[in-house]
Amino acid sequence: MPEELNPFKIAQEQLDKAAEIMNLDKATHALLREPKRTLIVTIPVKMDDGTTKVFTGFRVQYNDARGPTKGGIRFHPAETLDTVKALAAWMTWKCAVVDIPYGGGKGGVICNPKEMSQSELERLSRAYFSAISQIVGPEKDIPAPDVYTTPQMMAWMMDEFSKIKQYNAFGVITGKPLDVGGCKGRADATARGGMFVLREAAKHVNVPLKPNEENMHKPYGDLEATEDRIPKDNAVKVAIQGYGNAGQYAHLLVTRLFENAKVVAVSDSKGGVYYEEGLKYKEMRKIKKDTGSVTNFNKGKKITNKELLELDVDVLIPAALENQITGENADKIKAKIVLELANGPTTPEADKILHKKGVLVVPDFLANAGGVTTSYFEWVQNITGYYWDYEEVYEKLDKKMSKAFWDVIDTQKEFKSKDIETRTAAYIVSIRRVANAMKIRGWC
Ligand code: NAD
Repeated sequence: MPEELNPFKIAQEQLDKAAEIMNLDKATHALLREPKRTLIVTIPVKMDDGTTKVFTGFRVQYNDARGPTKGGIRFHPAETLDTVKALAAWMTWKCAVVDIPYGGGKGGVICNPKEMSQSELERLSRAYFSAISQIVGPEKDIPAPDVYTTPQMMAWMMDEFSKIKQYNAFGVITGKPLDVGGCKGRADATARGGMFVLREAAKHVNVPLKPNEENMHKPYGDLEATEDRIPKDNAVKVAIQGYGNAGQYAHLLVTRLFENAKVVAVSDSKGGVYYEEGLKYKEMRKIKKDTGSVTNFNKGKKITNKELLELDVDVLIPAALENQITGENADKIKAKIVLELANGPTTPEADKILHKKGVLVVPDFLANAGGVTTSYFEWVQNITGYYWDYEEVYEKLDKKMSKAFWDVIDTQKEFKSKDIETRTAAYIVSIRRVANAMKIRGWC
């Protein structure tokens, strides 16, 4: 991998940039540049054909000054230690920006889950968790699902840990199914958190988005049961890149939580569609489910993913891949708000251009923090043994996300003379919180 694309190098450079602006002391900076603890495990797993396969797994605990480390587990053939380290660093900033009492961590196993049976995946999940069981725990490090890991795998891992420790340790992992301590609202939490931030962002840059107060904290199941309405006049136009978990929930929620939002374009890996009148969530979801791609919508105009980004809309929601808005196309972005539900959709060069143009970029680790915030709620419910309903989860999520947005904007104002981007402001909010905790604890 070229050095400039090494995700851990990128994570360190992002830290360096913010550290310089905020004049961070040397020792704190040095401590924040490296993970606190890295564990590499070698795991033998019996395969269905009777052979034994040996896998490599990682768990990185980046910084735990603010509380136990938190972060997902990825099962991926191209997993590397540097990717896991970078993701653990980003989790540290994500937990700090929404002010939940966690540090950052991440885990991964080099494997191809698409080529493995359910029973092989169960044995691998249990073996991996057993191998890292010394360093995880409800008060130490709390993993969650990520790329190619599922709620079922979380349940196996929790069960394995509970057997080792001889008690029901539901709080050791989040993203579990509801019947074993999962949290209501976890499914749409990332997109829902993004919508709360979008509501605040629209106020900040005067996009006339009208919240539908009645729907704001309603369960997604109730919202899915409502009919699509397309606003006629003064609609706020939204384009969504990517139509998977994050993108589909974003379509449902943006059209239900706001009176006057209409989604005029969506896309997936095969391309996109543009329909000026407004795309209905139920129709697009059905087309995606039945045919595999939103491009099979037969009205409107077919567009490329590149064209989608450059549409004349008010809100652009990247919800697919990294490096989509670059130095080459940033100048052509017309949206007033870019809500990064995807991780890393905007390159540093594009960030600068968008900032100069006056586009408000809500950075990924703030915009998509609804998932980890709801994971925190799951853990709180597990350790107290008292479970909340949907409305309570969404109300608490709303408070956390809205406050985080304004904390970032206030910090951007504080550094007005340096004219910093929102992403840098978000970094400063997080780094300050982590640095303060380290200072108070006497680490440096
Ligand atoms: P997903 O796999 O469910 O969906 C991804 C979507 O992107 C699919 O519709 C796919 O067709 C589309 N896609 C793939 N290549 C594309 C391309 N070249 N152009 C346009 N679309 C393309 O994934 P997801 O869970 O929705 O995650 C999407 C993004 O959101 C990722 O960056 C992920 O890290 C981030 N995210 C998701 C969550 C979550 O809770 N799901 C949480 C935090 C961050």
